[in-house]
Amino acid sequence: AKHAGRGQAVCYQPGMIEQIAARRQLEQDIDVAIEQRQFHLAYQPILSLNDDRIVGYEALIRWNHPIRGSVSPVDFIPLAEETGQILAIGQWVLEEACREAASWADDQSVAVNISPVQFKSPSLTGCIATALAESGLSPHRLEVELTETALVTDGKALAHILVELRALGIKVAMDDFGTGYSSFAHLRDFPIDRIKIDRSFVAAALTDSHAMAVLRAITQLGRDMHVPTLAEGVETQDQLDLVRRLGCDDVQGYLIGKPERLDVAPMAEKQYA
Ligand code: C2E
Ligand code: CA
Ligand code: CA
Ligand code: CA
Repeated sequence: AKHAGRGQAVCYQPGMIEQIAARRQLEQDIDVAIEQRQFHLAYQPILSLNDDRIVGYEALIRWNHPIRGSVSPVDFIPLAEETGQILAIGQWVLEEACREAASWADDQSVAVNISPVQFKSPSLTGCIATALAESGLSPHRLEVELTETALVTDGKALAHILVELRALGIKVAMDDFGTGYSSFAHLRDFPIDRIKIDRSFVAAALTDSHAMAVLRAITQLGRDMHVPTLAEGVETQDQLDLVRRLGCDDVQGYLIGKPERLDVAPMAEKQYA
């Protein structure tokens, strides 16, 4: 660290220069990745508890870096959001997911994560319309997942975009529900087709009575408002039994299936009763 005198602005934290260089390198690598198509999508199955079958898949981006190997989205999406590269990545994700889903043997839905940066960009509805048109995917099979950060914008603009998305015939899910400050207000004010309950509640519910109370309250709320709920991150049979008992409509998690590449038709179905 460099100790600057009073009034002098320069003060480097240890490792800061290295950090800046690493970020710049990562940003360049992302540009190359976009150009050279180093990304692919993995799909995680969504099981309907109401009719015991896989009704859809969430598309999750994967980056196979030529030197660093597999890079987690957690390690590059935030930077791509800062640099704006997420717009190109996000458009590719939308087009690829629609294109692949259109080739599936069955008519399962595909859920695509939308970054707040994409959501706030005026090109979002156009991007989605293009992806649908080019793939021929039926709009009702596409669901976009928004996090609360995306929804924190002025109410009028938000309502307008949600109406536009609806008009395309696609569905809108609220991702990581319960982790933000205004999940409930948004649910009250805006048309949402599905609540995805954050996996932290599912993970803790069986050992933490507060997490259990929140999980129960969200499922009850979804029922009362006629909005289907999906429990994320179900890893054990006990968790599956619990969310079934609480009345969740759908589940997703390692117990049902990990995100995997779908080269051909979706995986054979298993029984979870
Ligand atoms: P998310 O949207 O909440 O996605 C769910 C994450 O939880 C995925 O991590 C998934 O692999 C993981 N997961 C699923 N089931 C389980 C489980 O049973 N246990 C545990 N411990 N984890 C489980 P992943 O693929 O690493 O993605 C992390 C985050 O990166 C996503 O969180 C999403 O916010 C973001 N992301 C991924 N793909 C995209 C994308 O195409 N576009 C954007 N904008 N963000 C993406
Ligand atoms: Ca750049
Ligand atoms: Ca998601
Ligand atoms: Ca989530």
